[in-house]
Amino acid sequence: MSSILRALSCADDYDPESLPVARAREIIRDLIVPVPGAERLFIRNALGRVLAQDIISPIDVPGHDNSAMDGYAVRFADLDPAGETRLRLAGTALAGRAFAGSLGVGECVRIMTGAMVPAGADTIVIQEVVREEDGLVVVPPGQKQGQNLRRAGEDLRAGHPALKAGKLIRPAELGLLASLGVAEAPVKRRVRVAVFSTGDELCSIGTPIRPGEVYDSNRYTLFGMLTRLGCEVVDLGVVHDNPHVLESAFREAASHADAIVTSGGVSVGEADFVRALMSRLGEVVFWKIAMRPGRPMAFGKIGDAYLFGLPGNPVAVMVTFYQFVRDALLKLMGVDPVEPLPLFRVPCTGALKKRPGRTEFQRGVLYREAGEWRVHPTGAQGSGILSSMSDANCFIVLEHEQGNVEPGEPVWVQPMEGLI
Ligand code: AMP
Ligand code: MG
Repeated sequence: MSSILRALSCADDYDPESLPVARAREIIRDLIVPVPGAERLFIRNALGRVLAQDIISPIDVPGHDNSAMDGYAVRFADLDPAGETRLRLAGTALAGRAFAGSLGVGECVRIMTGAMVPAGADTIVIQEVVREEDGLVVVPPGQKQGQNLRRAGEDLRAGHPALKAGKLIRPAELGLLASLGVAEAPVKRRVRVAVFSTGDELCSIGTPIRPGEVYDSNRYTLFGMLTRLGCEVVDLGVVHDNPHVLESAFREAASHADAIVTSGGVSVGEADFVRALMSRLGEVVFWKIAMRPGRPMAFGKIGDAYLFGLPGNPVAVMVTFYQFVRDALLKLMGVDPVEPLPLFRVPCTGALKKRPGRTEFQRGVLYREAGEWRVHPTGAQGSGILSSMSDANCFIVLEHEQGNVEPGEPVWVQPMEGLI
């Protein structure tokens, strides 16, 4: 028995005819093994990649105790806790230009943000509370020892991991690597994903459309979602429901890519080639997921490539991608841990029809009114209505057991902003 089918047969709550969303997500994630292989890249080119090894900090950041404010560096022991203290000004410390000497008893140094704290000083008094009088600096009582100091190594300590393997490199990580003086980072190689659309009715853009045909939009939403995720897309075009052409498309995809994402042909009652071919060429399971849209879906492996056989309806493609494929590809890319997409609870201003026993991903618009966030549905929720995805800025996630929603009732929303 194939490894995928064996793993599934051990799961006692596994029902391919009605698989809950959370269970399908879990099964997929458990079966994905991250791609091997890493390369070293100049950090700018590593944006969107995944760290292949821990980055051990070569230095303390900050490298020295420095001032967090503009003011005066003082010796706390010199300060009168009950009244004003007059200190002699011994010099100035600027960021990048230290005060050369050390602070004697009764002395202070004018100091700017980021400047090294002079030897002998242990406290910074902000300039706003200090006045100069007769050439002396007058410090009021009530200062705290160590205040307004940034300690050497308080951000990152030399010899400790500054970033862990599995971290997705975002702008913050680029800056952090640069703050360590790291110019190159070891990153996982890019994941290659082959994509094709199946269906005799599909027409590619650039070709005149004939009666009964529809333009293939799925390859374009998939291209966008995969590219945003940081994958390399291998576009194999439209493949008509012809067993020979389909077979060579699957074989080519499996030999070139780490994963294959197809759309269409996985529901029962299709011109059955796609399902039959997937089963013959690899270890593939067909699921009816208890969700809407996106009920039929295939998952498995053909050769070494993972296969995601998504439904054909354009909204279902996007929903199943974000709910299953995204997580799976992040894991394949080496991201660790893969965080679930955040959900927030906000009142829904419209009534929603919902049948218990499946998870629904309706499209909604999150908006602010009188300081409060609310959501309203985008209108028609058919799985072919791609404009509902374009109009939406969030999914309204109606959980498995949830029934109809009355206006004003709170619902879970998943913002689309930030969905990569
Ligand atoms: P299927 O899952 O193959 O039965 O397709 C379901 C519906 O989605 C049908 O109405 C198809 O015409 C439509 N569809 C399938 N593939 C695409 C595609 N690539 N672009 C746009 N619509 C599609
Ligand atoms: Mg079809």
